[in-house]
Amino acid sequence: MATATLSIDLDAIAANWRALDRLSASGVQTAAVVKADAYGLGAPRVARALAQAGARRFFVALAEEGAAVRQALGPGPQINILSGHMAGDTEMLHDLDLTPMLNSLEQITRHLEALPGHPFGVQLDTGMNRLGVELPEWQAVAPILLEADPVMLMSHLACADEPDHPMNLRQLEMFHEMTDGTGLPRSFSATGGILLGPQYHFDLTRPGIGLYGGQPFEMASRVVTLSLPVIQTREVAPGEAVGYGNTWEAEAPSVIATVAAGYADGLFRSLSNGAILWDGNTPCPLVGRVSMDLITVDITHLPEPPKALDILGPHQSVDDLADAAGTIGYEILTSLGNRYGRRYVEARG
Ligand SMILES: *Cc1c(COP(=O)(O)O)cnc(C)c1O
Repeated sequence: MATATLSIDLDAIAANWRALDRLSASGVQTAAVVKADAYGLGAPRVARALAQAGARRFFVALAEEGAAVRQALGPGPQINILSGHMAGDTEMLHDLDLTPMLNSLEQITRHLEALPGHPFGVQLDTGMNRLGVELPEWQAVAPILLEADPVMLMSHLACADEPDHPMNLRQLEMFHEMTDGTGLPRSFSATGGILLGPQYHFDLTRPGIGLYGGQPFEMASRVVTLSLPVIQTREVAPGEAVGYGNTWEAEAPSVIATVAAGYADGLFRSLSNGAILWDGNTPCPLVGRVSMDLITVDITHLPEPPKALDILGPHQSVDDLADAAGTIGYEILTSLGNRYGRRYVEARG
């Protein structure tokens, strides 16, 4: 079988959630962001594990993602939709008890007209200029909206992974200006904001990447292991080339393993001649270009050809691989291909 195995440690995700929860003061609730299929790891299983660990509030990007999480969790937990209330969402929001974070006057009007009395939150733009109601609009609608009793006011930091960036304080001040005195629950911080300190926590935090073992949460437990089967090995003589474009040439007699994953599985082409795979504790360099379904790896120094090589594991984190590819851990995780066999690791109690 040439299907690669992505192992996902649900206990590690739960442990990361608890660790992030402990980082904030008592009285601050910790939600869980499970958008984009829980950063590529499978929203239904991940959300259930997090609910078991104690998470009661979840965030997704789209109403459709919210529907999948509701199906996994059943009634009870609050499921918040970051894209708000889009045309066509009304029935789903109503039937599945999803809570939109309204982002604009248009969405506010749509929501109050279509679903009066249905819970909602408001996302405020504090300077990122991506999603949310801006200060002048907010000043105009706040008096009416506050009567409708939003479940929360939220905003999002643009530079939270850079603790010294002046944007953090600027957004914090803007968030205070927009929300002080409202008496409503407030949510401001994702993983990076939690690490900035308690003045960023407010009532509810919204970690995503830290749950899945990614930076900037240095203390995170490792969540994913990706093991790729070796399909074939061959000897290559000095002067022979490997892969598309002949970009790697053997300088000495070499043994090359052909491994069953490529850029269609989220191994970016920018990893060509740049990534490391692991046979247990032994590093083996990826040589030549990444193809759609295959990569080639120099295993000359191994005593015997391995059955599989790890590209994510104890020696190489999602962020290490992201560095090699010139991207961030978020993109590595959410690009993990759908051809992998997913194996969920969970202590059965
Ligand atoms: C993605 C996202 C989060 C989670 O961010 P992480 O950096 O993954 O912790 C929280 N809030 C909003 C609005 C987001 O878009």
